[in-house]
Amino acid sequence: MNLVFLGAPGAGKGTQAKKLVEKYGIPQISTGDLLRAAVAAGTPLGKEAKSYMDKGELVPDSVVLAMVEERLRQDDCKRGFILDGFPRNTSQAEALDKMLSALNMPLTAAVSVDVPFDDLMKRLTGRRTCKACGQMYNIYFNPPQKANICDKCGGELFQRDDDKEETIKKRLDVYSAQTAPLFDYYKKRGILKSVDGTGNIDEIFANICKTLGF
Ligand code: AMP
Repeated sequence: MNLVFLGAPGAGKGTQAKKLVEKYGIPQISTGDLLRAAVAAGTPLGKEAKSYMDKGELVPDSVVLAMVEERLRQDDCKRGFILDGFPRNTSQAEALDKMLSALNMPLTAAVSVDVPFDDLMKRLTGRRTCKACGQMYNIYFNPPQKANICDKCGGELFQRDDDKEETIKKRLDVYSAQTAPLFDYYKKRGILKSVDGTGNIDEIFANICKTLGF
């Protein structure tokens, strides 16, 4: 099962990908998470990426493609993978096709998690993540029991730098201009599976599994 998860920032694709990971034990490859880890570690790649991320722009393809290829070559991807937040534009999608055909790992499906544009802003501004375990919350839709404290591990919650209002607007613009054309790209290849991304997390997950035939 080799999957790409498509969807706007805030559509919940990361949350749903994590649920597939729990159920099927295949790795989630989130380019956003890989880039944030590089930023936190202060690597040269992280330093280069940070300036783009802080502005809500895409990091250059050369940086992201090398990172994804290295990850896909690791043994745990042989049984399948979920790409989350990649590809983000047509040239990344074309490069991914080439990479996967060289590795003999063709895509099974591109899953699109569809959420109306107006809902995305609240989802993004309300998003909080646990510093310790990465569990995600939303202060409007899925708040923790105690403000700013993780229900699972007691860790402190934080707001991503790029989830601030001004950066969000830019990220949504970039999404419309550069990432939305990928729906057509995968539709033409006959592997696009669209799922309604509104409603509760478990219902959406059940729909994804049904659509994928699991
Ligand atoms: P995400 O967590 O997927 O929303 O990604 C956060 C930020 O990381 C994005 O706004 C981009 O700056 C950068 N990023 C993540 N994935 C990619 C990608 N595939 N191509 C370019 N930039 C990316």
